[in-house]
Order: sequence, then C-alpha cells, then structure tokens
Amino acid sequence: MNVENVVKETVKKYGLMKKSDKVVVALSGGKDSTSVLYILKGLGYDVHGLMIDLYLGKWSDVHRENMVRFCGELGVPLTVVDLKAEIGQGICFVKAVLAKKKGMTGCSVCGIVKRWILNRWARKLGADVVVTGHNLDDETQNVLMNFLKGNVSLGAGMGPATGNGVSGDGFVQRVKPLFFVPESEVLRYSKDKGFDILYDRCPCAFGTYRVDTREWMGCLGDGEKRKIVGGFMGVVGGLKGDEREMRKCERCGEVSRGRVCKACAIFSCLK
Ligand code: AMP
Ligand code: ZN
Repeated sequence: MNVENVVKETVKKYGLMKKSDKVVVALSGGKDSTSVLYILKGLGYDVHGLMIDLYLGKWSDVHRENMVRFCGELGVPLTVVDLKAEIGQGICFVKAVLAKKKGMTGCSVCGIVKRWILNRWARKLGADVVVTGHNLDDETQNVLMNFLKGNVSLGAGMGPATGNGVSGDGFVQRVKPLFFVPESEVLRYSKDKGFDILYDRCPCAFGTYRVDTREWMGCLGDGEKRKIVGGFMGVVGGLKGDEREMRKCERCGEVSRGRVCKACAIFSCLK
C-alpha cells in the first residue's frame, strides 16, 4: 500500500482540509501521529504539532524529546502542553481517582481529558482542523466495541471527519487522514522512513476492553478490517449523532452536550 497516496485520497474525498488551513496535528510521539504529520507536511499543508505531556514517567519524557527533535528537523512548529500546568495533576493520578470514585476504568478518562485539552489548545493556536493519528485498526476496534456493547448506533456519523454534524462555537473539527490505513502499513511506513521514535504502547493501557478487543482482532486480516469499517460506515456513518445542540460548559466554557462537560465532571472529582 502506498500510505501517502491513501492519505492524499482520503483528504480529497472527504474534504478533510484545505491548503490554506492551519492544520494542528495531535502528536503522541507514536508511529501514527508522527507519520501523519510527516505526510501532511510533505503534501504542503501548513502543519503545527501539538503534544500533551501526560506525565507518564520516562515514557512521556522520551516521547517529548523525540517530538522536539522530529519537528525541529522537519521545520514544523511544536507546542507542548504541560498537563500539570493545565489541570494540576498528571494523568495517572486522575485515572486512579476516577477509577476509585466513579469506577471509570480503561482509557476513557484519558481520552476525555486529551480531547478537552486538544480542543482548547487547537483553538488558541487558531487551528482550522485537528488531525489525529487514528488508523483502520483503531476504527475496527471502535466498531467491534460498540457492537459488543449492543449499541451500534454509538458509531453514528463515523468516518474520517469526527463528530460529523457536530458544530458549535469553539469546536475545532477533528480529522483522521489514516482512517483507511491499517496499523501494519503505518508501522511499515514509519520503519521504512527510519523515524527515531518509540514503538511501545502506552504503559497505562492494560486490562482494558480496548486492549482485549485489539488482541482478539489479531485473527482478522487487513481486508476484513476494511470490510468491517466500510460496512458499518455505510450503515451508521450517515446517521446523525446526538441531535442535542452543543452548548458551552458552564464551568470551563468548552463545547459540551450537557450543562457541564465531561472533563469538568472529571476535574470536580479531583478536589
Ligand atoms: P491513542 O488514544 O493514544 O490511541 O491516540 C490516538 C491519537 O490521539 C494519536 O494518534 C494522537 O493523534 C492523539 N494523541 C494521543 N496522545 C496524545 C498526546 N499525549 N498529545 C497529543 N495528542 C495525542
Ligand atoms: Zn467544562
């Protein structure tokens, strides 16, 4: 597979971004976000890296140093957001408190906090879109997890542009140019390019539903993943998501479906 061409076609077909856009790429330091930043820069987009330092010990330190070097070499500006400066805590503490107080386990707490920070900072940076490195395997996991929860419609609006139909003052559109690229192909691309990055998975992600689903997915080929994602996109992709109007969180002012956003509900447990 020519990963660069697939990215180019996905961007074109789904109208993910324009050459005049300010494109903020959410960088974890892993192969997916690193590759997508590199490809979009090569295609001539005005890219800017945005990385959240989650305070996951040495793992975060190495990822941050790698991205400072990688973006420096590519001539791409990078903004590193310090989680402790933003919310007063590192992610492990936040996850531990929420697991204890609310029984929220897995990757959901981290995901909510990351999305809250990414939207805030993308807006501060004047972004037109935020790019994430989600690939075909991530999307297959989402479909299967929704299916196993018995709630296929959770995938309403799924596609390379997240939150289809979600618009609201202050919401920065998130897009996934690697939506149709299998993880194995991103890995091959990243290794072929010789990116000097870490290939380990997040040290916090263990014993979760997502991890179990990923392991189970080992029996699927890339063609099957494409069929699963394509098939479900055809069915639920066109469905409208939650129709309730987006409003502003009354505590932080971020885009929210409820009176108080999910991130503020998390932050209130930390007090
Ligand atoms: P994950 O949820 O860790 O699988 O990451 C999915 C995508 O979210 C990555 O490809 C990045 O685009 C983005 N992302 C994950 N972690 C971070 C981080 N610490 N800072 C900025 N973006 C991130
Ligand atoms: Zn809020």
